[in-house]
Amino acid sequence: MHDALRSTLVDIARLGAWLALLSLIFVPFERLFALRPARVFRPQVVTDLAYYFLNSLLPNLLLILPMTVLAWGLHHVMPGGYLRAVAQMPGWARLLAVLVVGEFGFYWGHRWSHEIPFLWRFHAVHHSAEHIDWLVNTRAHPIDMVFTRLCGLVPIYVLGLTHSSHGSAELGPVLIVLLGTVWGFFIHANVNWRLGPLEWLVATPAFHHWHHTNDANRDRNYATLLPIMDHIFGTLHLPQRQWPPVYGIDATMPAGLRSQLLHPMTRQRPAPARQDQEASARQDQGAIV
Ligand SMILES: [Zn+2]
Ligand SMILES: [Zn+2]
Repeated sequence: MHDALRSTLVDIARLGAWLALLSLIFVPFERLFALRPARVFRPQVVTDLAYYFLNSLLPNLLLILPMTVLAWGLHHVMPGGYLRAVAQMPGWARLLAVLVVGEFGFYWGHRWSHEIPFLWRFHAVHHSAEHIDWLVNTRAHPIDMVFTRLCGLVPIYVLGLTHSSHGSAELGPVLIVLLGTVWGFFIHANVNWRLGPLEWLVATPAFHHWHHTNDANRDRNYATLLPIMDHIFGTLHLPQRQWPPVYGIDATMPAGLRSQLLHPMTRQRPAPARQDQEASARQDQGAIV
């Protein structure tokens, strides 16, 4: 117990140091290239900081058991010849496969979180932000994070991509979750950067800000890193110069960490406007202006 407490305190100190580093990068970055006027100590900043610590610790803890069972089970189910062939792949090729397969899983996990009403209850916490900046990346219900991460990691394990011939078995999944998290801060940032053709290759602030729009173009741009997933599955929306007119959701979301964590479990009235606007949004699905 004493050891557990000590390691939790070490974790919190480590996360505090990361937070200081992220603030040193993103606060001046957003000041220099501000897309919209904003304050560092804006409403809900304390809630988002609480999410930062909670979500850096809890989802990974909740994932340990299912991922261990899955890795053990698949190791016994997958044909040995197939696993050996995957393990022989060059490291760079296996990492690339982890990236693409993981993105495929994240894409669909995220898309289901929008399309399945039960999952949307949890994911709506992230979309309730009406002002987008780097710290909004942390505002997510832990159950939502666990579900999306499972969707990204399961296909990687199912395809045996965690097996290598020289023992670096867990590196790929860890790298992709880390890369997605770090990149997540960048794509939420309140910066006016437009990166031309590069926006097709890798997710950018414009790409993800459109994911948070609350106009007729919502429910697009689900990818974490690779917009090509949205292009393939018909959900890309990336106008060359425009930015979303408004962020957020139709329904109300209570303020404060505790209320938001409990909110998905409470009785909720449906938001009819969401369905109506979805129908008109489908007409220009995938449009690239
Ligand atoms: Zn979303
Ligand atoms: Zn987001």
